[in-house]
Amino acid sequence: MSADLATQVRRRRTFAIISHPDAGKTTLTEKLLLFSGAIQIAGSVKARKAARHATSDWMEIEKQRGISVASSVMQMEYRDCVINLLDTPGHQDFSEDTYRVLTAVDAALMVIDAANGVEPQTRRLLQVCRARNTPILTFVNKMDREVQEPLALMDEIERELGMSVVPFTWPVGMGKLFGGVVDLRKKQMRVFSPGEDRAGGDEEVLTDLDNPAYAERFGMGWDQSQNEIELLGAAAPEFDEEAFLEGHQTPMFFGSAINNFGVQEVLDALVDLAPAPGARPSMQREVKPEEAKFSGVVFKIQANMDPSHRDRIAFLRVASGHFERGMRLKVVRSGKELRPNTVVSFLSQRRELLDEAFAGDIIGIPNHGVLQLGDTLTEGEQLQFTGLPFFAPELFRTVEVADPLKTKQLRAGLTQLGEEGAIQVFRPVLGTVLLLGAVGQLQFEVVAHRLEHEYGVRARIQPARYALARWVTCDPDDGGDKELQRFIDNNAHRIAYDAVNAPAILVEYAPELRAVEANWPKIKFHALREHA
Ligand code: GDP
Repeated sequence: MSADLATQVRRRRTFAIISHPDAGKTTLTEKLLLFSGAIQIAGSVKARKAARHATSDWMEIEKQRGISVASSVMQMEYRDCVINLLDTPGHQDFSEDTYRVLTAVDAALMVIDAANGVEPQTRRLLQVCRARNTPILTFVNKMDREVQEPLALMDEIERELGMSVVPFTWPVGMGKLFGGVVDLRKKQMRVFSPGEDRAGGDEEVLTDLDNPAYAERFGMGWDQSQNEIELLGAAAPEFDEEAFLEGHQTPMFFGSAINNFGVQEVLDALVDLAPAPGARPSMQREVKPEEAKFSGVVFKIQANMDPSHRDRIAFLRVASGHFERGMRLKVVRSGKELRPNTVVSFLSQRRELLDEAFAGDIIGIPNHGVLQLGDTLTEGEQLQFTGLPFFAPELFRTVEVADPLKTKQLRAGLTQLGEEGAIQVFRPVLGTVLLLGAVGQLQFEVVAHRLEHEYGVRARIQPARYALARWVTCDPDDGGDKELQRFIDNNAHRIAYDAVNAPAILVEYAPELRAVEANWPKIKFHALREHA
């Protein structure tokens, strides 16, 4: 069994795509699925997006704004590997959700629009990956357009993102004159041919790259590319596996997602270069993926798409062992037992009933609020995985109900939305009006919409005077809970408790916060709370 388990773990690759909106994430996702044979018909990922809109009212918001609110998980088999691809919302207002998804992956694929280069959202997401030393592969997309020179792009990525770039492929020409990409290791060229629905494998491959006829065939781009490749041979760093695994070096690939071109190289790189699931830290000990006993952590909660049902799906990353449908699991936080019989896995575009899963896989457990973000599930061991981040909100609103008889529904709705991570809810020490905290404006709109449609509550959401929050703690050596309580009592007018009763200070201006920090040297102020 354990040898089998180790084999299963070794063949898993779990990753997410990070990019700025419109760089081509959806298109590339679809082509990856197409390539691995998980779906036959191109267009179905987009179609599924559209179908989801149709089934859910609050998704109107997304439709109106043409952005992706929901995320999902896809599983595919390629060569001998099981690849789990976690989708992330593209809009920065949902970045918190994205950050949490990134805690569940072992590698990230960064997609860059070759015309726009490094864009803000990419930069932010990359920082999160870097903080966790997540290895990153880079795909430079849209080479079929008039884009930036590849050397300039390479330089920009190195400079802007502070990591060295190792090209694995190199483009010949671009736009109308895009001839294809040269595989720098195999010393062969795959010739570009446009077409949306090709499954690949039928392209022309040139192996005699010193053939003088190619200068004529590919025009200006050929000589330029040959010169650049020569330059790279002398100047580009060698691929260094350790530097890649630590997130200091990224292999770079060029292509055109929409034409399904250069995609196979990326899939192969995921299999050959990206790491299999590794050990994960918990408060008690390090947990190895090939341990026989099951453990996993909830990194995302999504309301069911059907607003008339209150059930939610908890997304769990399997950290160790082997999951079988119907097995008995313990929710470590509450001590409750769970016996998930209906568990969904996410095979391509269909949700299928899942029978088993291994470390690295993602399983979805439908539940009615038994599971919360950050929960650890085990076969009984007292384990708590760490590292699921909550960020101090930057936007605040007060929330009240128009109809006082609906106060209970409001609280119930907000509790559930808070547990999903859709919004952060704060209970001020003084007064009865609840506060909402968000990282992006759109979160408030989604919450207002969902409160109305799922909980029947018309909420009055109004600007609050706060602009900054910091969670506060006090080390035992500095006076511990007693000193913390003294701080809370002295600042009661600006203290509030979050969903897990962690106290936070809310202020209007940064100088105010600095003054408080100076006056209370024993108190620690945190912009990030990791679920414990
Ligand atoms: P996302 O927002 O990152 O998911 O981006 P999409 O995959 O939805 O792509 C954004 C737009 O870029 C769409 O109109 C795509 O058709 C287009 N696109 C994606 N890949 C390519 C490509 O390789 N070449 C060109 N010319 N357009 C592309």
